[in-house]
Amino acid sequence: MKYTITLLPGDGIGPEVSGAAVRIVEATGVEIEWECCLAGIDAVDAGMETLPESTLDSVRKNKVALKGPITTPVGKGFRSVNVGLRKALETYVSLRPVRSWKGLKTRHDDVDLVVFRENTEGLYAGREHEVVPGVVEALKIITADASRRIAEYAFEYARWTGRSKITAVHKASVMKLSDGLFLDMCREVARRYPFITYEEQPIDKVAMQIVLDPHRFDVLLMENLYGDIMSDLCSGLTGGLGVAPGANIGDDCAVFEAVHGSAPDIAGQNKANPIALTISAAMMLRHIGERAAARRIESGIERVLVAGEVRTGDMGGRASTTEITDAIIAAMPSPEEVAE
Ligand code: ATP
Repeated sequence: MKYTITLLPGDGIGPEVSGAAVRIVEATGVEIEWECCLAGIDAVDAGMETLPESTLDSVRKNKVALKGPITTPVGKGFRSVNVGLRKALETYVSLRPVRSWKGLKTRHDDVDLVVFRENTEGLYAGREHEVVPGVVEALKIITADASRRIAEYAFEYARWTGRSKITAVHKASVMKLSDGLFLDMCREVARRYPFITYEEQPIDKVAMQIVLDPHRFDVLLMENLYGDIMSDLCSGLTGGLGVAPGANIGDDCAVFEAVHGSAPDIAGQNKANPIALTISAAMMLRHIGERAAARRIESGIERVLVAGEVRTGDMGGRASTTEITDAIIAAMPSPEEVAE
């Protein structure tokens, strides 16, 4: 089968890491026609809007996209492209798996958890205004519907992937109404899954406990801003942004992207670590049913990390993006080796 998938190369290190991820995906032999689309600075340079309708239409048509990081142009009138994309496509689930990789030395071994972040509201609703000079107000929007659907997704995910515990993360002691409503919806959904342990923990306590002992958590479920912060924190537990993958999923479309941003400090220097976006691409392959190809990519990455000879700067090495991409392709097991 030949798939058509939208590719948003992004800017900064985007073209380098997405070029690498595409090469690695193509090395698996899965046939993909990439529909390359613009967004952000590149779109503005081409005389379009930051988030052109043609780009959104491509994702809506293909249902799946691989996306490099996109910087929102600085200046008045530019809304965040990433937030805009999530809203326009209604990708209300941000799924960020956090796992240890053999060969990457970190404080804790065998970390294996998943962060679910509500992707469409909270403080990211973008409702800010000046009340009087010197006083501004930001509105945190929490709705029952959006809270319920992210909780339902997280519980269904836990059921199908064999995960046994969900922790709803909140600050309901302070935000009694907003975080309170989020928790009410999580509880309502949890009652339908008595075989999955459900608990609630304040975000400050989770931040401390997860650094001391990440093994006590399994699935973390939270609203938008907490999820943004916690997923970066969790990526730090397992090797940093260079290896942290993610996906934005809705009822119609799924967009696979790394947790990291466009890293302008190392852009265009062939230094960026392509592993985060490549693991996101492996998640994308699983999403479309190409599980063996996904496993081959993950094994190739693991073999390169275990061998330890080819590493980019963020992992303490000196290899270039091209060198580590070549090494992953060379290390990928054959289809027979990963057959179930
Ligand atoms: P954003 O606001 O878009 O999330 P940010 O400024 O928070 O971006 P990132 O661009 O995600 O930050 O990255 C922070 C730093 O981490 C970068 O400046 C870079 O040095 C490093 N970094 C991020 N991603 C990578 C990568 N893939 N490979 C190597 N280093 C990276």
